Amino acid sequence: MKSPDTRAVLRHRPWITFDLDHTLIDSPYWHLHFLPWLEQESGRQSTDMDTLWHCFQREANRAWRAGRWVDAFDWPALAESLGLSRMPAVQQPNPTVIRSLVLPGVEKMLWTLRRYPIRLGLVTNGFSAFQEPFLRALGWDYVFDAIITPDRTGTAKPNPAIMAAVHPGLVHIGDRLSHDVLVATRSHRGSIHLATGLPETDYIDPLSPAMIAPDFSAANLQEVFALITRLLWT
Ligand SMILES: [Mg+2]
Repeated sequence: MKSPDTRAVLRHRPWITFDLDHTLIDSPYWHLHFLPWLEQESGRQSTDMDTLWHCFQREANRAWRAGRWVDAFDWPALAESLGLSRMPAVQQPNPTVIRSLVLPGVEKMLWTLRRYPIRLGLVTNGFSAFQEPFLRALGWDYVFDAIITPDRTGTAKPNPAIMAAVHPGLVHIGDRLSHDVLVATRSHRGSIHLATGLPETDYIDPLSPAMIAPDFSAANLQEVFALITRLLWT
């Protein structure tokens, strides 16, 4: 063994957790389910899609500010509260279509990490019913030791309570400062911010500083993998 740190890794098999959307894949629920429904609903309501989406955001923010963190991500319930048509359940997606949304280098990284003496977790603010059909279509439901979602935990990132089942945690990786980096800091693990260039779309957590500093920043998954390896073995 290389060092006492190596022995600690082997003994504890620490959790390395990933966000899903914009970290491993380009939001399949949004592209393949929500957006097509929003387009249809826009026609039914004779309202443009942006206006409809802003209604969802307003309702989600209201739920969030009221401390109803899970409700803020329950899109079918939000649609109902807005008096819109019922959102159908997510169907099993076409494997070719879903694969086209996977970000470059993801599977090579995951398969390599799978061979390391760690536990791999997925921590997403998407409900299990919204994410798992896509995970199953990719075969990723077998890759992760735990899939953590708001509907199962009763809370959402950046509440550190969502990380209760994934301790001890070495590092959490994600694209959102206000969700991923903050939940990592609050749950006493390292953070790697995958800088996608997408704007942060909410600062609605009252305890969140406008810009929280990650422990590490990465421009792509190759850099993420190099950082994880460094954290594990040096
Ligand atoms: Mg994300």
